[in-house]
Amino acid sequence: MTIAPNGMKILNHLGIGNRIARLGAPIDFIRFTDKTDKAISRFGNKSSKLDEVGAIALPRSTLMQVLREKVSEAGITVLNDFSIDHIDYHHDYVNLYFKNKEMVKADMVIGADGANSTIRQYVCDGQSTPKIHKSVVIGGLVKSENIKSIINYKDDSSRSSINLLLHHDKSFGFCCGSKDESIWMWWCRVDDDISEKISHTLREKKRELLLNAFSGWKSPVQELLLETEYISVNHAYDLEPLHSWHKNRAVLIGDAAHAMPPSSGQGASLAMEDALSLACSLSVNDLCPQIAFEQYASMRKERVEKIAELARRQRQPPVSPLKFWFIKKALSVILPIVGPRSNKWIYDYDPRQISWYKRAI
Ligand SMILES: Cc1cc2nc3c(=O)[nH]c(=O)nc-3n(C[C@H](O)[C@H](O)[C@H](O)COP(=O)(O)OP(=O)(O)OC[C@H]3O[C@@H](n4cnc5c(N)ncnc54)[C@H](O)[C@@H]3O)c2cc1C
Repeated sequence: MTIAPNGMKILNHLGIGNRIARLGAPIDFIRFTDKTDKAISRFGNKSSKLDEVGAIALPRSTLMQVLREKVSEAGITVLNDFSIDHIDYHHDYVNLYFKNKEMVKADMVIGADGANSTIRQYVCDGQSTPKIHKSVVIGGLVKSENIKSIINYKDDSSRSSINLLLHHDKSFGFCCGSKDESIWMWWCRVDDDISEKISHTLREKKRELLLNAFSGWKSPVQELLLETEYISVNHAYDLEPLHSWHKNRAVLIGDAAHAMPPSSGQGASLAMEDALSLACSLSVNDLCPQIAFEQYASMRKERVEKIAELARRQRQPPVSPLKFWFIKKALSVILPIVGPRSNKWIYDYDPRQISWYKRAI
């Protein structure tokens, strides 16, 4: 996965930004080509503040491991196998009931339980059921010393880029995921028929379907598909804006509040921004949930919904070859100008600069 510069700011705040930067690979550019690797466009992907760590790509498991170590250093216990079943509110406490039959009485509950959140059902109780759209994301991780020699770039800056190969009915993206270039990550979009077939087939058949779909595409597309041990098929969710992110003593953060298409590259970074914002709001409001939750939500909703809307617009459905030709021409002119500018307000955001947050830190 990639952590955008705004997410890296939060990791820096936690004191683990440099460690993540050392383990992952920098993503300083976004590079668009066609399936033959002919350049369409390229633009910088950094925060405009030069002293800050830019975007980093790394395996999700590596990020999780570093976060878990940090949590453990802070003396916080993580309990596994505690899956929430339901909650009930009381005036000044909330009871949490887990599937393992345990019960916990708590001052408040923070629903950080992802796109299929259970806590969201309680927060949205009484509102119309929020709509959630599901899509299939196919991808893989290649861990191999051999891959260095396979990935043969024309210029060195491509090594620190997200490389997106576009075609009228499908696309393939890849980037390096470790400093020593021994890990590479890829993901692709194919039409609904192929996605459906891939979702329901076994490992080697998945590979065969993808090798066929991307036959004739410029190296290293086929090589990455061949070297991937496990081709993953995940669901991505896009949640329509919620009327409210909190109710009584429960509040939502991250995907539970605002799952958005992964093409935004922002889901994890926004979840981390939410967490820091909520922590600051609780701190300045003496842990009073109602006031803190309201302040947190009013600070976050507009930004997050704007980014989600942008991600929805960027999702390119399959188009005719002629329309794709026009899109390519337009992208080659527009993206170098608009690309960095359109990301600036997203990357430069720092919750720590907001006046009432400063009192909390
Ligand atoms: C294929 C794919 C690729 C992506 N790539 C990127 C990327 O490159 N960059 C990026 O920023 N974002 C990316 N995203 C989005 C990103 O993964 C999410 O936005 C981010 O993980 C949200 O974090 P979260 O903590 O809110 O939710 P999650 O990471 O989903 O965590 C939710 C946690 O809650 C737990 N949980 C769920 N239900 C319960 C329950 N009932 N009781 C107890 N615990 C529960 C889950 O086990 C999980 O540990 C991608 C998403 C997908 C699907």
